[in-house]
Amino acid sequence: MADFKQETIMIDGSSGEGGGQVLRSALTMAMLTGRPFSMEKIRAGRRRSGLLRQHLTCVRAAAAICNAEVEGATLGSQSLRFTPGDLQGGDFRFEVGSAGSTMLVLQTVLLPLALCDQPATLSITGGTHNPAAPPFEFITRAYLQVLRRAGLTLEAELRRPGFMPAGGGEIFVDFSPADDRPTVVQSPHKTSSIDVSPALDLMTRGDLQKASIEALVAHLPTSIAEREIATFLKRAPGLPDPTLDWHTEVLRHDTSPGPGNALLATLSFEHVSEVFFVPGQKGISAEKVAERLADELRVYLSHDAPVGEHLTDQLLVVLAALGRGRFRCGPISSHARTQLELLPRFTGRRFEVISRDDGTFDVGLE
Ligand code: AMP
Repeated sequence: MADFKQETIMIDGSSGEGGGQVLRSALTMAMLTGRPFSMEKIRAGRRRSGLLRQHLTCVRAAAAICNAEVEGATLGSQSLRFTPGDLQGGDFRFEVGSAGSTMLVLQTVLLPLALCDQPATLSITGGTHNPAAPPFEFITRAYLQVLRRAGLTLEAELRRPGFMPAGGGEIFVDFSPADDRPTVVQSPHKTSSIDVSPALDLMTRGDLQKASIEALVAHLPTSIAEREIATFLKRAPGLPDPTLDWHTEVLRHDTSPGPGNALLATLSFEHVSEVFFVPGQKGISAEKVAERLADELRVYLSHDAPVGEHLTDQLLVVLAALGRGRFRCGPISSHARTQLELLPRFTGRRFEVISRDDGTFDVGLE
């Protein structure tokens, strides 16, 4: 492991992707490594710059879970200083206070709570199926499945869906500690002392076992969902296993406080599940939503790496947190490139990214 310094890590929040992910990843890594950071120009290039409610909830949630000292945690703030203390379990409840994504708040604190040696539960209210964020099903089926393979035990429950603009959804997560799971050791070198068995090792998809398409509707006509599914089936790329058919389902989500719609496709392979998601939006036809989803599928099925675009940037944090493992992915997004630069600043370990002739990449740690 490279030489570790305990001074504050200075981060330009507008560098790389320059969005909320830079902040969330820094919070996660600060919680895990115990290293303080100071961030300037938070989301400086965005239309509404600085900390929005969702980002502020991430900061507050992270601070509560590791007893951090925080300066600059106010709405619209473009600078933040975060000095973490020790991670602690407990029963936590956070409200985004808008339709902001609960999933992005969960993403910020999930690994620290999963790796903490104390039991915890977590309830977060806000949006559960937001544009430009992982939907609940992505987290449970794709992301948590990988974490379970790496030996982490946690269960997430969708108590109530929440859509833009009303929000009001709720998720609940139980981080029940299993005796044999990897735990973070409370030291400045926490990430180096984890022994994971088996480590994250995701190089192939394995056989396709199930392909499903689900259309979610809340307080809107069921016909929207039916049109989405019908259009998707017409446009969907061929499945790698031609003997399999799409399993289709319309899901009414009327426990949501407000109206909403989303189209989800799940490909369940032997070693990985990938979830593709397009939220319905006012002014965008059901047919357009379905075409967009078919396009996303097409990108993933154009290569044979197990890890798709969004899972890639999210698994980089898992690799950094666990300190070992490898995976193979498709094209590297700007979100992923930003993570490749940022995360080693906390761990002292760079990633190794090897490109293959077929356009996929092997990702591990140097
Ligand atoms: P940012 O744009 O910086 O707020 O980061 C957004 C995060 O949400 C990134 O980790 C993306 O990979 C993730 N994300 C965006 N859209 C999806 C999606 N459809 N499925 C899964 N993750 C997503």
